[in-house]
Amino acid sequence: MGKQVALSVKCIHCDASLMDDKVQFSGHASVKVNVETEHDRGVLWMSSVYGDYDKKLSIEVEDGEIVGMFCPHCNKELSSVEHCRFCEAPMVEFVIRAGGVVLICSRNGCTNHHIEFRDVGSEMSKFYYEYGF
Ligand SMILES: [Zn+2]
Ligand SMILES: [Zn+2]
Repeated sequence: MGKQVALSVKCIHCDASLMDDKVQFSGHASVKVNVETEHDRGVLWMSSVYGDYDKKLSIEVEDGEIVGMFCPHCNKELSSVEHCRFCEAPMVEFVIRAGGVVLICSRNGCTNHHIEFRDVGSEMSKFYYEYGF
């Protein structure tokens, strides 16, 4: 296991940063999004450290429930055209500030997530180096 790499992500629609300094995991700013389930709405903070599944929710979400994720700035859904290859739930997409996108499964409890590199910037070279991805 290499060093921890924290990703800085932004909205796929309005380009606003989704990072929240006030809530941190492992000393790194979290990724903050608005969430919506069948019965409730709330806020989700996720660890920005790649491979770390720490999260904090302002609402109760059952294991296996699909959670819609929305940008707190433009309120658009952060959905991807892709579906999870494990559980078939829709994937949620974020833009990595340094280039590329990260996709995570919208089903609570499913830990499927992967990174797609489009433009490999310096932060990503560091990522390859430190994480050994
Ligand atoms: Zn937005
Ligand atoms: Zn899944």
